[in-house]
Amino acid sequence: MKAIVIIGDGMGDRPLAALNGKTPLEAARKPSLNMLAEKGVCGIIDVIAPGVPPGSDVAHLALLGYDAEKVYSGRGAFEAIGFGVEVLPNDVAFRCNFATVDSKLKVIDRRAGRIANVDAARLAEEFKEVTLQGHEDVQILFKNTIQHRAILLLRGAHLSTMVSDSDPHIVGKKVLEVRPLNSTAEAEKTAQLLNELTHHFHKVLKNHPVNIERESAGLLPANIVLCRGAGKLPDLKQFPLQYGINAVAISAMPLVKGVCKAAGMKLINVSEATGTYDTNVLAKAHAAVKALRSYDFVFVHVKATDLAGHDGRVDEKVRMIEKLDQLVGYIIRNVDLGTTCIAVTADHTTSSRTREHEGDPVPVVIYGPEVRTDDVKEFTERACARGGLGRIRGKDFMPIIMNLLGKTKKFGA
Ligand SMILES: [Zn+2]
Repeated sequence: MKAIVIIGDGMGDRPLAALNGKTPLEAARKPSLNMLAEKGVCGIIDVIAPGVPPGSDVAHLALLGYDAEKVYSGRGAFEAIGFGVEVLPNDVAFRCNFATVDSKLKVIDRRAGRIANVDAARLAEEFKEVTLQGHEDVQILFKNTIQHRAILLLRGAHLSTMVSDSDPHIVGKKVLEVRPLNSTAEAEKTAQLLNELTHHFHKVLKNHPVNIERESAGLLPANIVLCRGAGKLPDLKQFPLQYGINAVAISAMPLVKGVCKAAGMKLINVSEATGTYDTNVLAKAHAAVKALRSYDFVFVHVKATDLAGHDGRVDEKVRMIEKLDQLVGYIIRNVDLGTTCIAVTADHTTSSRTREHEGDPVPVVIYGPEVRTDDVKEFTERACARGGLGRIRGKDFMPIIMNLLGKTKKFGA
């Protein structure tokens, strides 16, 4: 038995006035998801715990079977490895933005006018090998990724993740002084280094030829780098080893790719899968079906459902759910349903009204030739709440799948 797990990022929602009290899942036309609900077993998942809105990183850790509250150590390192940057066990990783500040370091634009990759790459060249006076023992690695986004790694002894962000997160505020979040010498050293580095970034960038060109073209200069989300790579028990399977993930989102990679899964890149509204879900479905020939477990993540929720675009969310349904339909038609489990869920609820992650549970369906079916015939938040799986936690999801695959070990004699 093999399994395909499909995650609609932020797919859960609340009843919306714009949909006459329906949720986007309830409003969407989704014959394939409904077919799975009818022939499978349904339920709802508190991905972390009831009422707790999860971030996408901890949510994915939980759905892969980890106790996220125990293993989570910040977002930065996941995103770095998701971008293919090598992170060593003691590296401290940050998510960074090229941004625009005025002469008093007040933030004018957190994304430097969504600077193009080519400009960001030329600026990042300047920081390939930085050593700061007094911190010669720390290797500083900096890499731009997409547009204004970048990764910073600090490598060396006596560093800490317990430091605040330099990113004020709000336009109009000054770049923040990084503070140690505990009283260790490591946190103090890391905070001091980051503050010096912030000034170094500004000094090098403010008169950089790329920025002079940008300004004369009427574009915002990328004259500072803002850092946030200090994290280390958690020491995760490798999920494929744990169950004796080989596993692969398909996602366009570096954060999710990073979590899957840290968990020991292989990654498949699908170039047409963009993580935005124009993502080609059928290319993803095709890659998933193909991957199932050589892997026991295929994890497919679709980002755009969440994007629509964060943008408050209700119709777009309905449309993205319908696209996800097409992905599911392709998989149903092209795998051997006698030997494949297919599960669909979301990593969290994203309310299209509040435009935020919320702590409401998400629907789940597990199809498999041997599941105990229930009376649910529709894949929606409310219908799944009446399903045979009942209400479970995120970390219970993977053992349930692995039990159907015959991969869980007996507890007791
Ligand atoms: Zn998410």
